[in-house]
Amino acid sequence: MTGISLQALNFWEAGEKLSSASDCYNPQWKIQRFMMCKYESKRVVECPTCSREISFQPLEVICEGSPELSAFLQGEANQVHCSSCEATFLYETSILYRDDENAYWVYFMPSVNSESLEGALTRMDQLCESILDEIAVTDQPRGRLTLSQREMIEKIMIHQHGYDDRLIEYVKYQFYQHSEDVDSKRDELFFDFSNSDSEKIMFLGFHKKTGQPTLSLGIKAIEYTQLERHFLKTEAMEKELDRFYRKYYVTVREML
Ligand SMILES: [Zn+2]
Repeated sequence: MTGISLQALNFWEAGEKLSSASDCYNPQWKIQRFMMCKYESKRVVECPTCSREISFQPLEVICEGSPELSAFLQGEANQVHCSSCEATFLYETSILYRDDENAYWVYFMPSVNSESLEGALTRMDQLCESILDEIAVTDQPRGRLTLSQREMIEKIMIHQHGYDDRLIEYVKYQFYQHSEDVDSKRDELFFDFSNSDSEKIMFLGFHKKTGQPTLSLGIKAIEYTQLERHFLKTEAMEKELDRFYRKYYVTVREML
């Protein structure tokens, strides 16, 4: 499994073993081993510009409603400043978002290349299954794996807006299939929370290579409601929807 961030996987394994309480642990979840892992310790990182060693405390667990969440959403998390050369750089590390009240988590696993993706996903599935196996299915927190911080922000926003990400990804799929403006090779579509409201759900396209915005498009909220009725009304139809995705890796990429 070359290229996988081993640190990311260690994080989960440490989460299985650690037993120290975290300040936002919710006992209702009965999943102590799952969410306990919170690294408080500082790391020493080397400035990529001048090689000075800097002591730094990375953000690795973000709780819903915390000030750290705002910093993360604004792209300010894990930015390291070097006082010697004034350079600022990103310290890339795995991050876990947890909303205890609504039993939802999103995990960001950095540095996974496409060759190692399959192995990382399998490992992730195994770890989650092993951690959650003692918990009744209905009590298990829903969780998502993301491979970029942009994806992670999107998942958090979809969750905060009360949408089902499986349907949001399905809408993207429809755009990729049927919209002449959207090029699946060029554009990566993201939920555009800034421009969505009770009437419409908007999406922004970004160029896969340059990261520059390419297009904006959306659906009426009522169309989303129709999808909800179609897919979530019966267990059998929900299963059909789930077949498009991995359990924890819910992305339109799996469908293209
Ligand atoms: Zn420096």
